[in-house]
Amino acid sequence: MKQKIVLFLMLFLLFGCSVDPKTINNTIIYELPSTTSKELITIPENTNVVLSFKVYNWCRVTYQEITGYTECSNLDLPPEEIGVLSGKTVIVDAGHGGKDNGAIVDNVLEKDINRKVSDYLIEYLKEDGANVVETRKNDETLYLYDRPTIANLVVAIENYIRTTNSGKKDAIGTIILDLEAILNDGVDVLPYLYRKGEDMNEELKEIFELTNQIDDVVFVSIHSNVTGNEEVSLQGLDMILTGNNVAEEYPGYDLYNDAERELFGNILGQNISSEADINLRRVYFGDYAVLREENLPSTLIELGYMDNEEDLKKLTDSDSQKAYARGIEKGIIEYFEATKTLTQ
Ligand SMILES: [Zn+2]
Repeated sequence: MKQKIVLFLMLFLLFGCSVDPKTINNTIIYELPSTTSKELITIPENTNVVLSFKVYNWCRVTYQEITGYTECSNLDLPPEEIGVLSGKTVIVDAGHGGKDNGAIVDNVLEKDINRKVSDYLIEYLKEDGANVVETRKNDETLYLYDRPTIANLVVAIENYIRTTNSGKKDAIGTIILDLEAILNDGVDVLPYLYRKGEDMNEELKEIFELTNQIDDVVFVSIHSNVTGNEEVSLQGLDMILTGNNVAEEYPGYDLYNDAERELFGNILGQNISSEADINLRRVYFGDYAVLREENLPSTLIELGYMDNEEDLKKLTDSDSQKAYARGIEKGIIEYFEATKTLTQ
């Protein structure tokens, strides 16, 4: 009986937390986060919408396959905590998902480890007052390039809302619509923005410059590693950065702030290492699309090696998963402290 109650409670928590918000009034969905932009649809009161994320007071929602923007005050959202990360946005990218399991060792799927650690992290960040944007929700299948596209969209929206210059606003509005098209149509429209191995596209260059206008958004991509070689057993935490090292292969991709990315990766690495009691193997520059196609302070975290017995134990233990999440949370706070952008 007790077990049944626990199960009910768990189900309630699981589904209770992810219930879509309802509209409070008759709610207009706009094409862009502005009441002067094109109206896409009006939704009646007390109707569910799917919320993907919010930026300032604007919510990106989907209703009957129409995605657009509405003022968050039109939705019955839970009140936000006020804390050390109030006013900051953290984009949490839980690696792999859905049809893409990532690495598999002893029937343990990488995507599930990444999900668990991400969920704890999201909980802690929200308690700190942060605005959390998830690239993949639950066990959704997400195209690789959707991940940096969501990061770029958040950057564009933030700049769009902040700018009062109407010419500049229109230009950023076009960028938002193009990014929406990529999320909508995926690979078919990719070549015009992300052009692997060719000169950097002018529009992506604009997005990279817009990213330099803001200092309150960071991006973490959460993964677990495998050595893939039975003769070597690697162990520990790897922090991966992408920076101007990729410019040789991708002309024009030299607009990153390497120092900022390095600072972010190092601070995160040290904090995760001490919280989760795991050896920090290295912080290094590699070439990863998820980091290459956006220009935020961003790091891909490989939490540990699934084919190392000691690491796998940590990766699958809920207390250690919480410790990993605490380490990332503390690292993010310390990063914002180091860049002197905390308001409290
Ligand atoms: Zn992975």
